[in-house]
Amino acid sequence: MLPLEQALTQMLNALPSPDSKQDEQISLEQAVNRICSENIISPINVPSFDNSAMDGYAVRLADLAQSLTLSVAGKSFAGAPFTGEWVAQSTVRIMTGAMLPVGADAVVMQEDVIVNEDGSVTFPANIKCGQNIRRIGEDVKQGDVVLAKGSLLNTVSLPLLASLGIDKVKVFPRLKVAVLSTGDELVPVGQPLKEGQIYDTNRFTVKLMLEKLNCEILDFGLLPDNEQEFEKAFVKAQQQADLVITSGGVSVGEADFTKTVLEKVGKINFWKIAMKPGKPFAFGKLENAWFCGLPGNPVSALATFYQLVQPVIAKLSGYSQWKAPQRFSAIATTKMKKAPGRLDFQRGYYQVNGNGKIEVQPIGFQGSHLFSSFVKSNCFIVLERERGNVEAGETVTIEPFNHLIS
Ligand code: AMP
Ligand code: MG
Repeated sequence: MLPLEQALTQMLNALPSPDSKQDEQISLEQAVNRICSENIISPINVPSFDNSAMDGYAVRLADLAQSLTLSVAGKSFAGAPFTGEWVAQSTVRIMTGAMLPVGADAVVMQEDVIVNEDGSVTFPANIKCGQNIRRIGEDVKQGDVVLAKGSLLNTVSLPLLASLGIDKVKVFPRLKVAVLSTGDELVPVGQPLKEGQIYDTNRFTVKLMLEKLNCEILDFGLLPDNEQEFEKAFVKAQQQADLVITSGGVSVGEADFTKTVLEKVGKINFWKIAMKPGKPFAFGKLENAWFCGLPGNPVSALATFYQLVQPVIAKLSGYSQWKAPQRFSAIATTKMKKAPGRLDFQRGYYQVNGNGKIEVQPIGFQGSHLFSSFVKSNCFIVLERERGNVEAGETVTIEPFNHLIS
């Protein structure tokens, strides 16, 4: 059995990043959840001119050294700068975001001044050079890389580009992923069940996660447990997809053909991982597409997709800035059963207790055929490979679910 980390390293080393020549240029409106295929450089400074951070008065310190009371030379509004002559011993009334008049040293907020009956303004004594001024280029400098190649275009990165006047962006193509389930016992969701049949949940789960990852989904439906059918389907799927994902038939039962067929029509890299749930997992290459074979048990299928396929899709999509979900320490509030030998991903619920410490409890039974526990969980409890049973009060590692499972 291969340790999970080693499996991940092997897979990611084998996989290429997409070729930049395949990228396409699209408008910002179409670009949400796409991956940018080049470094994006700012064409302008932000702010693009010195401006006021407050509603108040722009002043020159030299004037205030003569007298703290100044006349008003004019006004500078956002979008309508002061254009007059700024005579000595005067101030310019200025609004937030308005261009700073040339020569101003500071802006004094209106709450800190006294407006006299004759219209002149009296300032306090302690004014610092530069106060309440937003400087040109303080946020972004012209020529800065604002977004690295391989970044996700999302709710914050796209508005940043918009604020720079960028309206088009180069992106990698969306990954085409073929999905199929295997098993004579499976029935599509929505049809009546006969004796011994179950619903095909995995294809639904996988498609939902692929949607969140913004992949183009090619649904190849259900495959019966028949070697020739497997072969035909694998060959067809890899002609159209960049990645083929199957579930079931990957174990050592008499009806488990995934491994045999993958070896026949492609190349298998490995197929047993020291993780629980999810021991049987196939990774390989067909002629034109990569291949991930998930185990059939729904919990295992989801857990292996999350831990192994998610980084594979990030790599193949060019999402080089993708980060693996963070892990934290938490205190176990109840005991947990665990046999040494495999890295265990139990489903748990974590929260901050009254003392400000993170605590976690496993949710429900942990069998890999028991899917309902996921619904009440918000994290994996990651129990190290060689660890045995966990007692209440021990420290464990948790991995809060990311957007794929929430
Ligand atoms: P297998 O790896 O094909 O032996 O499947 C292992 C277990 O997962 C069996 O109990 C299957 O019935 C179940 N299973 C396989 N595929 C699916 C699926 N798509 N949806 C729900 N359960 C499945
Ligand atoms: Mg099966």
